[in-house]
Amino acid sequence: MNPTVKKRIDFQVSRQQIKTHTGSTAKNLTREDNSRDLLGKFHKDRSVWIRARQRVLQYLSYQFPCALQLKQWGILNEVKCRLCGKYYKEKKVREPPDSVESVGHIQCYSPVLQLSRIAIHHGIWRELMFSIQKSSTKLNDASEPRWHFPSALSPEAHAEWGQYKILEYMGLHEILPPGAGQNRAKLRKDIEEYHIAYSIDFDETDIDTFNARRPDGLAFDTEKKSCVFLEYTRAMDTNEDWAEKKEQEKNDRYSSHLGFINHLSNREKSGWKASQPNFTTGVRGSLHTNQFLTRLESLGVKKKNTRKAIRNRTVQKTRSMSDIILQFFLIVLNSKTE
Ligand SMILES: [Zn+2]
Repeated sequence: MNPTVKKRIDFQVSRQQIKTHTGSTAKNLTREDNSRDLLGKFHKDRSVWIRARQRVLQYLSYQFPCALQLKQWGILNEVKCRLCGKYYKEKKVREPPDSVESVGHIQCYSPVLQLSRIAIHHGIWRELMFSIQKSSTKLNDASEPRWHFPSALSPEAHAEWGQYKILEYMGLHEILPPGAGQNRAKLRKDIEEYHIAYSIDFDETDIDTFNARRPDGLAFDTEKKSCVFLEYTRAMDTNEDWAEKKEQEKNDRYSSHLGFINHLSNREKSGWKASQPNFTTGVRGSLHTNQFLTRLESLGVKKKNTRKAIRNRTVQKTRSMSDIILQFFLIVLNSKTE
């Protein structure tokens, strides 16, 4: 086809798309729990890089120049992720994943950006966890702090709190002196027993995966005998049901762990109960406010204003940290390769 004719067609096509653009931006800005009330504050926050502040507005209005958008504007012919393509070419791996280069793909899925994604997850979660721990001032009947957050303080503490230690803390697993793999054997038997009792499919190799998995955080109330798994997720918030979907994924991930603890607790008549509230923020700053505040309260954050402040900080932090990944994307995409 003649290039001039093609350009014209592309231009016509992109004009047709304008309507859908305004539709999605407006829909987004009028949606509940989109943290729109904090956008102005974010934009005025001088501790956040000016480019980051601008980019949030850019992708809220579907203007971030990713391939998906560039194609709609008639600039690119393909929507395939350029970064994945480039990376696979450099590493001389044949087939790049066939993914559409959207903000969601860059933020949450592109394998090239996996490391920065993990760092951002930890950055947001550590601050949130620290705030919860610091602000959890509710006392128990003995006038001591009601909640205990053993894994909140350092990555080392977090690494230490695996299955054995969680169960030991509740007196559901006795740690035997080292040697002959006795601890392993006993726990293995218990885990098998649980899966058989509830007819859940399970085989030998699953045991290591089961034991290796640890929640992002933990909270214990020794008086009321609550063991709480805390999970944090940063997810793409384009679709209306983004948070419910993540919630379900997270619950599925730990349902057998919670089930196992409750099973042992029943068997030993110990009275402990395990549960799991999730904390989820959207890449663009969405956050289910009521649910979030209720969960903070259930963990002993007594003051209403403190709960609000934690919510605001978490939204701000998610927005500013999420920008880092877009920065990396642009840097890697534009970097020269031999
Ligand atoms: Zn990609």
